[in-house]
Amino acid sequence: MQFKCANCGGNVVYDPSDGHMKCMSCQSVDTEEVVTQEDSYSCPSCGAKLEINDFTSATKCGYCGAYLIIDEKITYPYGPDLLIPFRFSKEQATELLRKSFKDKLFCPNDFLSERTLENLEGDYIPFWMYSYDTHAVWDGTGEKRRSWRQGDTEYTEISTYHVHREIDIDFNQVPVDASIAMPDAVMDLMEPYEYKDLTKFEPKYMSGYIAETYNQPPDALEARAKSKIDLDTEQWLASTMSGYSALKPMQKVFDHKPTAREFAMMPVWRYVYRYRNKQYEYYINGQTGKVYGKLPKSTTKIWFSTTTLFVALVLLLKALQFLVEVF
Ligand SMILES: [Zn+2]
Ligand SMILES: [Zn+2]
Repeated sequence: MQFKCANCGGNVVYDPSDGHMKCMSCQSVDTEEVVTQEDSYSCPSCGAKLEINDFTSATKCGYCGAYLIIDEKITYPYGPDLLIPFRFSKEQATELLRKSFKDKLFCPNDFLSERTLENLEGDYIPFWMYSYDTHAVWDGTGEKRRSWRQGDTEYTEISTYHVHREIDIDFNQVPVDASIAMPDAVMDLMEPYEYKDLTKFEPKYMSGYIAETYNQPPDALEARAKSKIDLDTEQWLASTMSGYSALKPMQKVFDHKPTAREFAMMPVWRYVYRYRNKQYEYYINGQTGKVYGKLPKSTTKIWFSTTTLFVALVLLLKALQFLVEVF
């Protein structure tokens, strides 16, 4: 499907700066009409063949630049339940990135002027959100020690207690990245998202962006959600058992009863630059504005900063010497 302008026939996209739909050609607001396409493999605007893979759910025509949504990838069983809509527009995200480059101490002076932008797109990254009712039981012994001295003898009293804890925890929407192409390490650094902004999915939020459906089914990724909540459960239990010098579990049972599995999409701006024949990628959390990416390092600047440090140390030593001579 495609969102087209009722006034001029141009492509209408979701504008995060005010939450309205905007025509890319005549700038009209909320004039969108939904046009469905017969086949998902060619652009309804210009007829060009679309470059999509098995997971593509929204794309941009490489020929005319129109944004399209692949109908069968946004409906059952591939469609998202929820999403966090983009909150930063392309212009706002570019400004955040420019500021972040300027602050980098070791970035080469000519990087800002010499880099060439290869690609700049807003991507919706697929996530599975797992919810559980957890019942945790911890049963074992705890030791408390008390030491004192009498004359030349030191005494230690060890008291052993039976410790039993049972807690119920509701885990809501524990996120696990369901995209193979997006490195987990990058997504970990993009987090956290503010999940209170999770919104019921509507196709309009995808217009103007690239998106993919989940690459793996929820069963395949559930182990990662469970290892996250195991860790949290351990911490909850530990917080109720302070004051012991040693704890020995005899029985530890975590029962995670699944209550919901939802497919959600999270917004990321992805920038690809080329500088001195090398490609650099930067990511901006499309909701919080958090920036992540590796910049090229300038060896000249690093040398300069080391020298400055050295000079300062020498001056300090000289000053100390002077003080010694005076007294
Ligand atoms: Zn228009
Ligand atoms: Zn096209």
